[in-house]
Amino acid sequence: MTHTLELKQHANAAIDELRDEWIRISSTLHANPEIAFQEHQSAALLCDALEAHGFAVTRGYGGLETAFCAETKGAGEGPTIALLAEYDALPKLGHACGHNIIATSSIAAGVALHKVIGELAGRVLVLGTPAEEGGGGKLIMLENNAFDSIDAAMMVHPAAWTMTTRASLASSRLTLEFTGLASHAAAAPEDGLNALEAVILTFNGVNALRLHLKPDARVHGIITHGGTAVNIIPEYAAAQFSVRAARPAYADEVLQRVIQCAEAAGIATGAQLKYTVKPGYKNMLPNQIMARLFAENWQAIGVEVHDPRPNERMGSTDMGNVSQVVPSLHPYLAIAPDGTAGHSIEFREASISPNGHEGLLKAAKGMAMTTIDLLSDPQLMRAVKQEFAATVSN
Ligand SMILES: [Zn+2]
Repeated sequence: MTHTLELKQHANAAIDELRDEWIRISSTLHANPEIAFQEHQSAALLCDALEAHGFAVTRGYGGLETAFCAETKGAGEGPTIALLAEYDALPKLGHACGHNIIATSSIAAGVALHKVIGELAGRVLVLGTPAEEGGGGKLIMLENNAFDSIDAAMMVHPAAWTMTTRASLASSRLTLEFTGLASHAAAAPEDGLNALEAVILTFNGVNALRLHLKPDARVHGIITHGGTAVNIIPEYAAAQFSVRAARPAYADEVLQRVIQCAEAAGIATGAQLKYTVKPGYKNMLPNQIMARLFAENWQAIGVEVHDPRPNERMGSTDMGNVSQVVPSLHPYLAIAPDGTAGHSIEFREASISPNGHEGLLKAAKGMAMTTIDLLSDPQLMRAVKQEFAATVSN
């Protein structure tokens, strides 16, 4: 048996040995959902566990109070591999994206690696990365250089289909504000300028535009202000849109056309438009060499790995931004029946089911084994970096 294989078996055994602790942590996170930037209890729970198992933990990291960095070092100089933990929940829905599994699997993999790291060269970091659900925690951490010393990063997302190479959509957030003129809605409507109608026209314009968008484009919005009283012509109305596509250039083109819909609505109603664009998540560039290693490791423990489907539906993630700065992997692991939607009650239940618990152990093992591969073979790490450099420059 090779040394690498032996280390992998030790790491996997360590994950199984502490199985009850991982399930307890995942269940505690699930039962106490905290939304973006407010993950104080969740971060503390994870930091406590890492510390108890021998990690040096920095609480508050990369410009975020609820982020953390936990470190363990090997015998000599070598690459730094980061395992990312997300632990934010969705407003009202709770852990319907299964981030309790993401967090716990990265912690479990980290602790398992800590037990074998003495036989490896390099470092393992467990990075707590808050606010994935719309807050862009990793973007803030990137701005604060939290990924500077990292050679490769990975995390596993629970899903309804197992695959290691799925991409994600480039996205941005558009906020629209229309200012009209208030007047009595019954006695003097001719004196008003209706800001709400401008928002409604924008939605109708976008819906007409939709017919002519490529299949990967996604435009979806909500009305955040629609007036204050029915007997007043709304003088202020606002909406938010998320605009996404597989490639940043096309996402930007669609964004410009959505803005034109809003401008047209402003002209039609006479309401003044003000808009702001928040640059969003970049598309994910899965490192193919890491993906191959990960798939082989998963297959070795009996996980069936699929290719993404040709018309695979995708969301966006701030891991996309990380993947454009360091070689990254964001595999998906099925914990729910094929076809189960993310961000649903069914997925929330799956995240705490026996399948969810088994999934978190498999996710942890995949990360531990792949990290062992990367830390024990400098040539492999060089190839990962070469592929990254070639992908990013394209
Ligand atoms: Zn998620």
